[in-house]
Amino acid sequence: MTNHPNPAPDETVDPTLCPLCGQPNGCALTEGRPIEACWCVQATVPEDVLKRIPPERRLKACVCPSCASGGQ
Ligand SMILES: [Zn+2]
Repeated sequence: MTNHPNPAPDETVDPTLCPLCGQPNGCALTEGRPIEACWCVQATVPEDVLKRIPPERRLKACVCPSCASGGQ
């Protein structure tokens, strides 16, 4: 395994934008609403879609409803 010393925070990751298409992901948290109100609570994102998200962005930004449903 390779350890990268002091990895710089990736400030290019915007948590309000979909990492796949760059459109607003509509996450409730980004709008100041509770997570229970977010569409993603009820949505199931296909494994195939998750695999297309760059690993460094996976825990930083949600995909948008369009990408989550498998669309482009
Ligand atoms: Zn998207």
